[in-house]
Amino acid sequence: MILHLKNNITQSKAALIANDLNAFHFFSNGVNVIVTESNLKELPVELEGVVEQFWLFDNDIQLASSKYISDKREVQIGNIKIGGNTNKTIVIGGPCSVESKSQILESAKLLVELGLTTLRGGCYKPRTSPYSFQGMGYDGLMLLTEIREEFGLNIITEVRDATHINDVIEHSDIIQVGAKAMYDQGILRACSSIDKPILIKRGFGTTLKEFVQAAEFVLSGGNNNVILCERGIRTFETNTRFTLDLCGVAWLKEHTNLPIILDPSHAMGYAYGVPFLSKACVAMGIDGLLIETHVNPSVAKSDASQQLNHNDFRKLLTSLKPVANSVGYSIV
Ligand code: PEP
Ligand code: MN
Repeated sequence: MILHLKNNITQSKAALIANDLNAFHFFSNGVNVIVTESNLKELPVELEGVVEQFWLFDNDIQLASSKYISDKREVQIGNIKIGGNTNKTIVIGGPCSVESKSQILESAKLLVELGLTTLRGGCYKPRTSPYSFQGMGYDGLMLLTEIREEFGLNIITEVRDATHINDVIEHSDIIQVGAKAMYDQGILRACSSIDKPILIKRGFGTTLKEFVQAAEFVLSGGNNNVILCERGIRTFETNTRFTLDLCGVAWLKEHTNLPIILDPSHAMGYAYGVPFLSKACVAMGIDGLLIETHVNPSVAKSDASQQLNHNDFRKLLTSLKPVANSVGYSIV
């Protein structure tokens, strides 16, 4: 159950009420919000005098539910807003991993040339094998902060585990919680107590409900800036790396209030498929795309086969604009 308290209730009183209910409390947009477990099926009588409005749910998708907020939430990324009624599809581009100053510089220049605002690049890579490149770690993060200062780009980078969560929070504009890290509740809780945007990627074996419940961990701490990212799930098919779950995206659009970004690069696993999928995604009316692009994909230290070269990225961006416009969106 979600409760909005009357505005004469102080924040400290609201905290006490939440404590008695063993519930979450946060103060957002001038309102004391309390969230209890979802199997409370009616408003406790003793709360009638303090509650302005309440919502009942039949499962633990509560703050993210379109039954609570029917419009999509707006999330600010630098000076761009996505979600809400903005009808903007943000294209986030950059390499899988930050590999060197010269490499990430080329990516930054490409984005600036194309008028894009947000650069991706992983520093703490959650690799499947311990023997492959694990990312540049803190040094990579420092390269990203130099790039932000020089080019004014927003930075999105991923957190692999709780050991470096504070560094990623401090130095990035959007925190990416990857498909493997999305089950780490230490990470999710750390992300819940800040107000930077958090992009949560769906685990490849994660149901839609589990995915949205990961978002609830962040929302219930009072961080409203959560973005969901569908990046492909594992099916019986092995010719593509994963299977992009567009049905799931339709479900999320209908049942949640969170902006949705799609990642065709990891879903497909091969660069040749990324433009096809990107167009299909944009045609659904989505809040963003996350696309891997590398100045020289053949030498990329991670995910080489799926990264677009810069020319193909340029062509893709041009081809996406009319698709977005045809569904009332614009690419930013
Ligand atoms: C990535 O974005 O490079 C990445 C590792 O993604 P995922 O967590 O979706 O596998
Ligand atoms: Mn990658």
